[in-house]
Amino acid sequence: MKKYNVTLISGDGTGPELVEIVKKVLSYLPVEIKWEEVEAGEIAIKKYNTPLPESVLESIKKNKVALKGPITTPVATGFRSVNVALRQQLDLYACVRPCKIYTGVKTKYDNVDIVVIRENTEDLYCGVEFEPQSEQAKYIIAQSKNKIRPDAAISIKPISAFGTERIAKFAFEYAKKYNRKKITAVTKANIMKLTDGLFFEICRKVAQQYPEIEYEERLVDNMCMQLVQKPELYDILLLPNLYGDIISDLCAGLVGGLGVAPGANFGDECAVFEAVHGSAPKYAGMNKVNPTALLLSAKFMLEYLGETEVATKLESAIAEVIKEGKVVTYDLGGNAKNYEMADEIIKKIIS
Ligand code: NAD
Repeated sequence: MKKYNVTLISGDGTGPELVEIVKKVLSYLPVEIKWEEVEAGEIAIKKYNTPLPESVLESIKKNKVALKGPITTPVATGFRSVNVALRQQLDLYACVRPCKIYTGVKTKYDNVDIVVIRENTEDLYCGVEFEPQSEQAKYIIAQSKNKIRPDAAISIKPISAFGTERIAKFAFEYAKKYNRKKITAVTKANIMKLTDGLFFEICRKVAQQYPEIEYEERLVDNMCMQLVQKPELYDILLLPNLYGDIISDLCAGLVGGLGVAPGANFGDECAVFEAVHGSAPKYAGMNKVNPTALLLSAKFMLEYLGETEVATKLESAIAEVIKEGKVVTYDLGGNAKNYEMADEIIKKIIS
């Protein structure tokens, strides 16, 4: 059996209990994983006075693969989001969030299988903001010829040709690899003609290199309505950072909520797998929140490692437990603790 070294970040809030569950479930699968546990988030602030110690980045760079529990973003402390910093510092430019309905999950829809591919390093997330009345804000306001009020705070939205080309190529290669038929690029290019306009322009050019994959464009406001009305028409969605963040939560809602929404962040060198949801701190220690999202993220990780059969075995066990609907967490209409749901999944794996 091949052995894999994987960096493991427990995270905050409900993260540690979910990560323990994933470790336990994966230990019943025919795959050998050596977890290298590192600390980030609140625990790291207490111990090292930073939420993202250098040792975390070093571990991920060395192992190339990480599984991460959700990390709380401290409010009004001066610390930036670890999640955003991790993506930027490791250049994890592609965020992938598969949203698919599993039989047994109560949703208003019955045929959704969408993959949201979000650019992860640019756009308003680059963290360049200017305070009201700062020299930079004043300069930009002067350039704007009175379009911006003098007391405005300002955020910068960079979209580059380089950043767009690599995410577009990633999306088309993903479509090829997973036999997907259509890519819909989504922006607000009618208003942000230069930034979002560039995103569309580059996506169109990349699309020409993949004639076997259908390519279309939507404006993000219209996209929201279409997704609510007829999500079955969509396959892969390709978006800049901010729209991608919002639309991926919308898509998670289409398929049953954050409890069942997995995700991953890919760079050219490494990948970090994590659920879409956050640390849900109000449920911390209650063993209440659904482990499916993180387990499906681990399934995605197994596929990435080339362990396709093992990944399928894990997904089938999860799907069976959800379909039966007997031992599932509150969000799926049950009253099981998350470790009880995990034990039921283990029973399916070993049966
Ligand atoms: P959240 O996703 O943590 O929780 C919002 C609500 O969604 C919860 O109260 C719960 O009702 C539901 N939910 C979340 N996960 C669930 C699960 N596994 N099963 C069932 N229900 C679930 O969002 P939030 O409260 O806005 O954020 C809490 C913290 O997490 C914030 O500090 C935020 O910055 C951080 N966050 C981290 C990540 C990440 O680590 N990637 C992502 C999003 C938010």
